[in-house]
Amino acid sequence: MSFTHALRCRECGREYPLDPIFSCEFCFGPLEVAYDYDGIREAISRDSIEAGPPSLWRYAPLLPANPEYKVDIGTGYTPLIRADRLAKAVGLDTLWIKNDTVNPTWSFKDRVVSMAIARAREFGFEAMACASTGNLANSVAAHSAAAGMECFVFIPDDLEHGKVVGSGIYDPTLVMIEGSYDDVNRLCTELSSVRPWAFVNINVRPYYAEGSRTLAFETAEQLGWRAPARVVAPMASGSLYTKIWKGFQELHKVGLIDEPHTRMSGAQAAGCSPITTAFDAGTLNFTPQKPKTIARSLAIGNPADGYYALKTMEETGGGAAMATDEEIVAGMKLLAETEGIFAETAGGVTIACLKKLVESGQIARDEETVAYITGAGLKTIEAIENELSEPIRITPRMAEFDAALEARTATPIPAGI
Ligand SMILES: *Cc1c(COP(=O)(O)O)cnc(C)c1O
Ligand SMILES: [Zn+2]
Repeated sequence: MSFTHALRCRECGREYPLDPIFSCEFCFGPLEVAYDYDGIREAISRDSIEAGPPSLWRYAPLLPANPEYKVDIGTGYTPLIRADRLAKAVGLDTLWIKNDTVNPTWSFKDRVVSMAIARAREFGFEAMACASTGNLANSVAAHSAAAGMECFVFIPDDLEHGKVVGSGIYDPTLVMIEGSYDDVNRLCTELSSVRPWAFVNINVRPYYAEGSRTLAFETAEQLGWRAPARVVAPMASGSLYTKIWKGFQELHKVGLIDEPHTRMSGAQAAGCSPITTAFDAGTLNFTPQKPKTIARSLAIGNPADGYYALKTMEETGGGAAMATDEEIVAGMKLLAETEGIFAETAGGVTIACLKKLVESGQIARDEETVAYITGAGLKTIEAIENELSEPIRITPRMAEFDAALEARTATPIPAGI
């Protein structure tokens, strides 16, 4: 049972059949999946969802893919953690962390790939492909392996070691391109018109992008069926950020939550901030940038959904911020030291921007906030390995330990202990 009935142009509204296509033939606007919301409203309830599996497939009637074709390696239904220590550190009353580091390939990309590969299988594709800043490559390679499909992943050649190995282990055809993500994406767009592959973020992008809405569905359910006052989410292409807002609105449309009034704040790295820079300048039209940041997963200089992200800021009364490399590292450490969550650089961007937005008064102390932590820290060890306290190194003797500890803490060990 599927409630998708067409693809619809986001600009002119023309409708197209549910095919592996992504842009409007008339105006070149991006295509988006259209749903029969009345049908969904009839088919689901809070109870039916709560009785579903502990994965993103619990929201099946709201998804753009048929669960019959799913490749389920355990994506979604990740923890929403009440972060009181971090809240105190940044100056908020109530803060939640949506911890998407615990997905099967340790990033939120498993959500979007779950949709793309299910649709690709339904369309009859035999090979998957993607242009990636690292995490998408990991997820596409893993899901393709689990489905027994051929896989081609294209990445820039300067990615973190963990992200390269994190694709290689699944044995895809891994292609490293001399150039930036935007160069990789351009090549893949050309390839997609001549190769019979499902490029998850190109020809099946309309289905792929919808997977990010599950972050909103889960958050609302985990909060007891309501939307938060404020969201802080990272932005690369801007897709995840805009789809979280779409997800809250859709839950209202199908009668599961009250009308959401969530203010949406987006987070970028200062070294790749086309969307935040446009927001600060008060325009909806961003200027592409050449990325230079440790937050490689967010390093998209020409963001496909940048315009829609800026519209979402305007529509929700939200905003945007950016963080320097130093602030990103501080953000990663703050999250780890207050909440025990080791996030990758993108998580550092989110926490650093959250902190700045509270400090500058753009987020009020009493706004209940959800921060989205989208990828795990072991993938970006390079960013922090030289920023941590030195371990104590000794031979296995108690006296040596006592002396080393005393030297470190500069407090004598009390006698008799
Ligand atoms: C891809 C990615 C994002 C954001 O992606 P969008 O292109 O904006 O949807 C955020 N965090 C991490 C860790 C990512 O890999
Ligand atoms: Zn159009």
